[in-house]
Amino acid sequence: MTKIKMPKNVAMIINILQKNGYEAYIVGGCVRDAILNKEPNDWDITTSALPEDVKRIFHKTIDTGIQHGTVTVMIEKTGYEITTYRIDGEYEDGRHPKDVLFTRNLVEDLKRRDFTINAMAYNDKDGLVDEFDGIGDLERKIIRCVGNPMDRFHEDALRILRAVRFAANLGFDIDEDTKKAAAELAPTLKKISKERIQTELDKMFLSDHPEMLEEACNLGITREVLAEANHLKEQDKLTEVIEIMNQMEKNHYLRWASVYIYSDKTRTQEALKALKFDNHTIDICSRIVNAVNTRKLPQNRAEVRKDIYEVGQDIYELYLKFLRGYLTVKNADISERYCQICEEYQDIIEKGECISLKQLCINGKDLIQTGMFRGTAIGEELNKLLYMVMEQPELNQREKLLELILK
Ligand code: ATP
Ligand code: MG
Repeated sequence: MTKIKMPKNVAMIINILQKNGYEAYIVGGCVRDAILNKEPNDWDITTSALPEDVKRIFHKTIDTGIQHGTVTVMIEKTGYEITTYRIDGEYEDGRHPKDVLFTRNLVEDLKRRDFTINAMAYNDKDGLVDEFDGIGDLERKIIRCVGNPMDRFHEDALRILRAVRFAANLGFDIDEDTKKAAAELAPTLKKISKERIQTELDKMFLSDHPEMLEEACNLGITREVLAEANHLKEQDKLTEVIEIMNQMEKNHYLRWASVYIYSDKTRTQEALKALKFDNHTIDICSRIVNAVNTRKLPQNRAEVRKDIYEVGQDIYELYLKFLRGYLTVKNADISERYCQICEEYQDIIEKGECISLKQLCINGKDLIQTGMFRGTAIGEELNKLLYMVMEQPELNQREKLLELILK
């Protein structure tokens, strides 16, 4: 019998529910990951107990998704999601189930899940509950819909994108029938909210297999959710961009910036905004794209200081990481100069060399006191001084700078 080792709090929750006369299992992604010997992201619990029962039994709970039957139980500051067995009602528009029906039958709950590998449940008492041969598909490394793929994608088009993202996460293939249905119904992804799409794309890009993007493109999925992939494909650049992504560490900003590397700052901003990304992500990715496309490698230490200032110290390290992957793909190697820049950057930061206005040994007040500057001229003068100091660090002393100004 398959045995899964679960965290003690999870085992405890299941135990308590069982002692109160209910069924309870871990379910979905955590069962899949545990069988694959991967550390699950979270441990979801499914139970025959109704949400009000769960709330009665446990002291500290939060109504996270009470309308869908989900209650979060808090134990030692960690939340565990407990969801009542449910059947999703008719899907009205391929978007939301019209209503949610609770059921007393675990298998009914497993039936509503997207893929066979995500539709297994487990507890120590009954072992693995695997109605749809999720184990077999894990062994064969196949993403397959539970039931008829056309029906399942009609119910919820997001599953089309999820199929590719799980294939990318796990390095699996998509079952032929599932793939066919995905291609046929890909246009219905239009109906899905950008937030849900963003989540799945993000998980796909942060996986070991961003090359699944190519598959997503071939299946007609990206046309609906990531037009940039189609632009790249038309220009024969998609494979290269995927190589660039693969060269990057699994970092959200680096991988999203890779996608837009052949566009420009504005287009990156617009595309990420349309996908409802947060302003921070939009800002960082578009600045990386812009820097890579508009700047040359700094040729000496003074230029590195200016480069840090102009690109922004906040993203400079990320930018260097991006360049590493990018140059590796573009030039089949990173240049010696690139490595020097990395060292110089570290050294500049460690030595606290002046690369910002706030490190300048003189400020706006000082300039006003000279009686020579007012209004915007103050900022302009400070900027000029900063550039002089970045060129010649030894100038960064109050007296010297004042002297320079008075001259
Ligand atoms: P991850 O480790 O990436 O979080 P996961 O399998 O836990 O993967 P979630 O999106 O967290 O994926 O969903 C949890 C479970 O809920 C899935 O394993 C699946 O059983 C079910 N599920 C989630 N989304 C859907 C959907 N759109 N249609 C059907 N079942 C779904
Ligand atoms: Mg999950």
